Amino acid sequence: MRDVAAAISPRLAAEALVASVDGRLVDLTYPLHADATVRFITPDHAEALMVYRHSTAHLLAAAVTALFPEAQCGIGPATDEGFFYDFVVSRPFVPDDLARIEAKMRDLAAQDLPFDRQMWAREEAIDFFRRRGEPLKVELIDDKTAGQREVSCYTIKDRETFVDFCIGPHVPSTGRLRAFRLLSTSNAYWKGDARNQAMQRVYGTAFPSQADLETYLHRLEEAKKRDHRKLGKELGLFTSHPWAPGAAFWLAKGTTLYNLLAAYMREVLFPAGYVELKTPLIYNKALWETSGHWEHYRDNMFVIEAEDEQMSVKPMNCPGHFLVFASEGRSYRDLPLRFYEQTPLHRKEASGVLSGLTRVRQFSQDDAHCFVTEEQIGEEIERLLRLVQRVYSDFGLSYTVKLSTRPEDFLGEATTWDHAQAQLGRALEAAGQAFTAAAGEGAFYGPKIDVDVTDAIGRKWQCATIQLDYEMPRRFDLTYIGADNAEHRPVVIHRAIVGSFERFIALLIEHYAGAFPLWLAPVQVVVLPISDKHLQYAREVRAALDHAGLRADLDDRTEKIGYKIREAQLQKVPYMLVVGNREAAERNVAVRSRSEGDLGSFSVDELIAQVREESASKGQRTLARVPATSSPS
Ligand SMILES: [Zn+2]
Ligand SMILES: [Zn+2]
Repeated sequence: MRDVAAAISPRLAAEALVASVDGRLVDLTYPLHADATVRFITPDHAEALMVYRHSTAHLLAAAVTALFPEAQCGIGPATDEGFFYDFVVSRPFVPDDLARIEAKMRDLAAQDLPFDRQMWAREEAIDFFRRRGEPLKVELIDDKTAGQREVSCYTIKDRETFVDFCIGPHVPSTGRLRAFRLLSTSNAYWKGDARNQAMQRVYGTAFPSQADLETYLHRLEEAKKRDHRKLGKELGLFTSHPWAPGAAFWLAKGTTLYNLLAAYMREVLFPAGYVELKTPLIYNKALWETSGHWEHYRDNMFVIEAEDEQMSVKPMNCPGHFLVFASEGRSYRDLPLRFYEQTPLHRKEASGVLSGLTRVRQFSQDDAHCFVTEEQIGEEIERLLRLVQRVYSDFGLSYTVKLSTRPEDFLGEATTWDHAQAQLGRALEAAGQAFTAAAGEGAFYGPKIDVDVTDAIGRKWQCATIQLDYEMPRRFDLTYIGADNAEHRPVVIHRAIVGSFERFIALLIEHYAGAFPLWLAPVQVVVLPISDKHLQYAREVRAALDHAGLRADLDDRTEKIGYKIREAQLQKVPYMLVVGNREAAERNVAVRSRSEGDLGSFSVDELIAQVREESASKGQRTLARVPATSSPS
């Protein structure tokens, strides 16, 4: 293989990491036979990243086994963020260990040792790892290679230096691994099961270039500063308690933000023809049997008993909406029918995965179900895409769209799927929406459109989803009377634009780093009297702001004005109104913006008018600095 690369160009031979043969990634030492389609993967290819990361995981294991000879190795996969490797060790790793391990990795990389693929007889491999005291590797070989005569093992330099059972591929030699960093350790269990052997997981990351690594590390730092759990506490938005795992306690400011978001979604959806429902939170198991949740989703539901009946708290709104649809006769004239709901949902997430507002047990969604005729699908999807565009542009968020099509395991007729997918594709084009196709990634009951938001530091968050469903209308026997006077089955579109409010608020906190735009800020304006002498006037200003419908606060503590400004700045309040002798005399306010600093003096009426305008325009127009000449001094 390397000869093929060399025949093309010596530079390619030097740069190539692995090769792709008929679409499968292999080592450069792979023996090439027959007419295969070959591509060489160099560091600039997207496929290179995972090869770097996985190879670096081997380098990590080689370093750990060199420094801790009794360590046993588990698995070491590449991930979207980097890689990890699990080890059985006699004591947990401490930060000093990480530094030593990383230094050893650099040492092994500097020696530019070859990754060598060897085919061993299966029994020989099992015997080798057993003798070396690596029962977990023996178990892996047992599990993964049943029926095979040979298994592939990779050495770094030689068996004594490092050997691992793996299918590969890897970079040709350790010298190719330069831009890596170990990040953290955590407790882990063999095969992720707490009943199994306890292990230590070491996390790291690796990139093709030092510059990419630095960008990532910078983003990690930035992400730490923006962490919604940290900011949520500092800004007084929400808190939690171990007695209510996975559920937020929304404090006054957080509740304001939550309600603003909910009100905003209603403001967008009602003119678009949606009606809001409030359906029950708890249902008899019969409903979940009909929907299929009892069979497929029960482990994620909170099941409760009531008078010997098994009931469950709803994990989603859909079945309730189907009951409402079926509660009266429907005609084609009623369609599209759009039911919207934002009542709380509960899902029994494992306590170990709960995190802040992103992995929770209780949440609400901007959830809706559109009941349409087969012919209405295209237009309805197009309308939905326009709503998605409007909502994300209001939040200043950019996003990408993916069309996921028929998976291997699907319900219904292939022709219905083809038709539905074609309608989705046409709707995306009609809405002028660029998208990528993800073949085979649709839900088993229908194709879907997923929207990934990119936040201010380049991370992706899956938010909006639009799913076509032919299956639930059948299970719930939903019908409408068509223009032909016959019964027809509607198609259901499940859709959410922001998705879970909790998760979306986490995204907004991290995207804006807590500095919400004026229209979303829980406190928009704070009045800061310079001393107690100015309290009376400050109260009048605040009352005027309240009266104008602005979210205002007054810092009436006996503190120095510099201190009050710093506090307001830390609370990321968009506008601070400082009032002292001159302001009280002239019935003015000295305006300070959290991002622009001093803006000059405004009359209270003028300030109110401009702030309202900025809020209504969702930040398109902002408060302008008063030109120095017109500012009374
Ligand atoms: Zn490997
Ligand atoms: Zn649904």
